[in-house]
Amino acid sequence: MRTVFVGPPGAGKGTQAERIVKQYGLLHLSTGDMLRAARDAKTAIGLKAEEYMSAGQLVPDEVIIGIVTERLSQEDAQSGFLLDGFPRTLVQAEELDKSLKESGTPLDVVLELRVPEEELYTRLASRGRADDKPEVIRERLVAYRRQTEPLVGYYTESGILKTVDGTGSIDDIFGRISAILDAYK
Ligand code: AMP
Repeated sequence: MRTVFVGPPGAGKGTQAERIVKQYGLLHLSTGDMLRAARDAKTAIGLKAEEYMSAGQLVPDEVIIGIVTERLSQEDAQSGFLLDGFPRTLVQAEELDKSLKESGTPLDVVLELRVPEEELYTRLASRGRADDKPEVIRERLVAYRRQTEPLVGYYTESGILKTVDGTGSIDDIFGRISAILDAYK
């Protein structure tokens, strides 16, 4: 199964992603985790990315697209993956489609996790990551609405979008997600 997780920061994608990949045997690819690892390792890309991450902005498309397409070409991605935090712009989505089409392995399903804005602030404020400071949170939510939310329309048009209510307990949300993903096993 090849799937993408879309949702604003604080929607609970990371938590649910861990359970999904365990249940369905998928490779979990979080671009946020990949960029934080690159930053901590002080690679050139990581240091460049940090300038954007610390401001709550998206890193440039050309940086992230290269990282992801390279990763997806590796052996352990061939039996299925869950992309978490990518794509985040229409350009990224189009490039991903193009690259997956070339290898004859298109996406099966895109999950959109929907959570009301007020709840996102509460959840993010209690998390304590460096980019979870109030002013950076605001920037990240603005970036989501402006740059990432258009993907909902894009994948609706492709006919592969499924929207999931991201409120309630972790178990409730996972129940809703697995009711959808079971059809793609
Ligand atoms: P996340 O952990 O997914 O919230 O990502 C943390 C930060 O990494 C974001 O605020 C962006 O600065 C950067 N980032 C992660 N994924 C992407 C992406 N697909 N495109 C651009 N920037 C990204």
